[in-house]
Order: sequence, then C-alpha cells, then structure tokens
Amino acid sequence: MQPLSCSLIGAPVQSGAGVRGCLMGPDAYRTAGLRETLVDLGHSVEDRGDVAARDIAPLNHSNVAIHNLAETAGWAEALQEAAFEAARSTDLPIFLGGDHSLSIGTVAGIAKHSAQQDRPQFLLWLDAHPDLHTLASTDSGNLHGTPVAYLMGQEGFEGYYPKMDAPIPAENIFMMGLRSVDSFEHELITQTPVAVHDMRAMDEEGVKAPLVNFLNKVKAAGGALHVSLDVDFLDPAIAPAVGTTVPGGATFREAHLIMELLCDSGLVTSLDLVELNPFLDVRGRTASLMVDLCASLLGRKVLDRPTRQFA
Ligand code: MG
Ligand code: MG
Repeated sequence: MQPLSCSLIGAPVQSGAGVRGCLMGPDAYRTAGLRETLVDLGHSVEDRGDVAARDIAPLNHSNVAIHNLAETAGWAEALQEAAFEAARSTDLPIFLGGDHSLSIGTVAGIAKHSAQQDRPQFLLWLDAHPDLHTLASTDSGNLHGTPVAYLMGQEGFEGYYPKMDAPIPAENIFMMGLRSVDSFEHELITQTPVAVHDMRAMDEEGVKAPLVNFLNKVKAAGGALHVSLDVDFLDPAIAPAVGTTVPGGATFREAHLIMELLCDSGLVTSLDLVELNPFLDVRGRTASLMVDLCASLLGRKVLDRPTRQFA
C-alpha cells in the first residue's frame, strides 16, 4: 500500500465506562509498539500525545442513572477539535482509547472535516454492542453506550454533547459482530436504515461478502470511512482486556480478514481503537493483538507475519 502519514492521538477517557482502567489504554498501545509497527510498514507516524478533557460546568439530566455527563461532554469537545485538526493535517488519524464514549468527539470531528471536503461520511462499527442509546433511554447510565445514537442525529443530546455539525446518515453506518442488543436499541435498528451484520449473520455468511458490499458503497459515493473497533468485538478468549466481555466474539482470523479487506480497499480515512482496559489484560496480549490488527489494516500481509511464540 501507499505510505500514509498517520497521527496517533491518545484519548484516555474512562468516564463513559462502568469499569475503571481505560485511561491506561493509550499507554498500553505505546508500550505494545504501535508507532514502531506502523513505521516498520513504511508509514510516517506522529504521536501527538494525549488529549486533555475540557472543564465543563456540571450538567443535570432527568435520567438519574447517567453518570459523568459533564466529564464525558468535556472529552467530546476536546476530541472533536483534535480529530478535526488531525484529519486536516494527516492521512490517517488513529485514536487510542479510552472507552467508546470518545467516539462522540472523534467521529464528530472527522465527519465535520469530511463535510467540509464535500465527502459523505461512512462509519464501520465493529462491536458486540450497537451503542445506540440516547441519554433518556440508557438504564446503565454508562455513556459509552450512546455514541452511535448521537452521531446519527437522534434527539435529546442537544445542550449536553457538543453540537453535531454533520450527522451521519443511518444508511451510511454498518455494524458487524453485534451480539448484545437491548430492546430500545433493537427497536431503533428496526426503525432506521442502519445496516447490521450480527454475529449470527457472521456465523452463517462469513465476513467478506457483506463487508465488500459496504466498501463498494463507500467507494461509489467517494466517501470517507471511519472505523471504530471496540475490543469487545473480539472473542474474550483472545482479547480479555475489556470491561464488557460478551462470549462468542470475532475470531483471530475473522478480525484479521476484516482488517486485510479494509486495507485492500484503501478507503479507511480514520480509526478508533477503543475499550482496551489494560488493568484486565493478561501479559499485554490484548494490546498486542490490537496492534497486530492495526498492522493488518495498514499493509501487513499474512505472508509477512514472523513466527513467534504466542503466550
Ligand atoms: Mg462500543
Ligand atoms: Mg461494546
């Protein structure tokens, strides 16, 4: 593949998660050698360090289950700006999370840049969960369950999260690997044209045909493609470092194949790596796997993979 200019942006967000530890995520990726791996593949990589959250006055919402609303909104504001700037100045911004609430900021900033370039924004959501809750509907109050609803312009976020300048049309969103969906989210999936290839569909049909179908849509539209990869997309047996494990996740080969197909397409313009909780990891294996997946996305081929011992 063509060498790209990549930027690494640390987003040590954990205000949206129910389990503490995601704030260590960015440093775990650095420790696992993400920058060096991408440099070895021929890319130029600038590590921009970690973003800091904005200070925001306390926010009250009638849903009392919600916690850390102002802190999460403060992260979103800072990350939106950092993402917009990174998209303006590099080929591929990579956001190192942090829990999934960081996408409230990163994807909004990326989408704003794409809108300015007159390119439709597409979103590939690789996750066990659709993260389609609104502030009113969340029972857990964990705001990492809300980014997609916000990004596609659902109501009820005004006055809490930053204004979404360029909502992403639901038909431009493709979710793979879902296997934990509650009734409110299920209803929203039924009512909107968001495309879902859940785990049963992955079992029956594999990953290639539906993904290529989506990529062809992105290509035909001249679109920008943001990929948001949640650690819990992967099977907990290979990726234990996440607070929201759901059994029956993507296998090592399914995940790599998806990354390799994305690489072949040349369409990916930005990436989130989210929900890594190093406090729950086993000798860094989840962080290393995420780095390896990133390498597949950025040009490492099966035949390039050295033999080494896997713990
Ligand atoms: Mg998620
Ligand atoms: Mg998830």
